[in-house]
Amino acid sequence: AKSDGKGAYHFFEPELDAEASRRRRMEIDLRHAIRDGDFELYFQPLFSISQNRVKGFEALMRWPHKEHGMVSPTVFIPIAEESGLIVQLGEWALREACRQAAQWPDDISVAVNISPRQLVADGLATCVTQTLAQTGLPAARLELEITESVFIGNVEKTLKILHSLQALGVRVALDDFGTGYSSLSYLRSFPFNKIKIDQSFVRALGEGDSARAIVRAITTLADALDMETLAEGVETQEWLDTLRSEGCDMIQGYLISRPVPGRDVARLLAVQNGS
Ligand code: C2E
Ligand code: CA
Ligand code: CA
Ligand code: CA
Repeated sequence: AKSDGKGAYHFFEPELDAEASRRRRMEIDLRHAIRDGDFELYFQPLFSISQNRVKGFEALMRWPHKEHGMVSPTVFIPIAEESGLIVQLGEWALREACRQAAQWPDDISVAVNISPRQLVADGLATCVTQTLAQTGLPAARLELEITESVFIGNVEKTLKILHSLQALGVRVALDDFGTGYSSLSYLRSFPFNKIKIDQSFVRALGEGDSARAIVRAITTLADALDMETLAEGVETQEWLDTLRSEGCDMIQGYLISRPVPGRDVARLLAVQNGS
């Protein structure tokens, strides 16, 4: 780039512009989709290894888009997060997940993802309380999944919010465990009910002993802290066998089922649990 100021600036501008305007367009699309109620929830089973049955489902957002087909949450959640739309969108997901889960058998729970921005926004505890009251879902059947990135920023405030949520009787799970750089310190500061071991460790199980040793360390630690462990992204019977022998409590992944639309939950339970 040239050093006359103006030239150097222009050197990078076109690309940044394209990315920025793509995001702006998607943000406008998102607003319309929220207004029109275009989102759907899919549900993926959370499977207990020792009980050999499905104990709950994680709610995963889907956006069927008129032009772009099914837009992945990995694309639109970050934009919703950045623009603040995640608060509205997340409240919708919470209500919809609880509404559907209230129709399920009463030993089946639902897990809902709460983004960092949604967690620290005012009124989440109130929203949870109202949603449980309106849908009739018992608090014990709701689990909130948070990632450790919620601890970036105001740790004290985050802990206060998490405690107030747990005081309502809902469960709190630590999602994507092991992907951050100081995960262990968060286990000391808050009594999570469950640790979700990130897919990257599960995927590495086939590639030698170190991933296996890490999984064993996590389940040992979780046992000592009285937390449950769930391994994400389990695709093969071989991985399941390894996870079982390393003391993991639960799994989630294509081996059991891909995420399914809400209308298929009852059928999936009939097949998996024989209920
Ligand atoms: P996550 O919370 O870690 O969700 C698990 C992701 O792994 C899901 O991707 C799921 O479809 C995928 N998955 C499950 N089993 C397997 C497997 O065996 N193999 C492989 N390759 N993948 C598997 P999905 O549905 O695309 O969601 C991606 C991410 O988007 C989620 O990751 C979560 O961070 C975010 N997300 C989805 N729904 C919501 C929501 O309602 N609110 C918020 N805040 N975030 C959401
Ligand atoms: Ca999750
Ligand atoms: Ca995860
Ligand atoms: Ca255990």
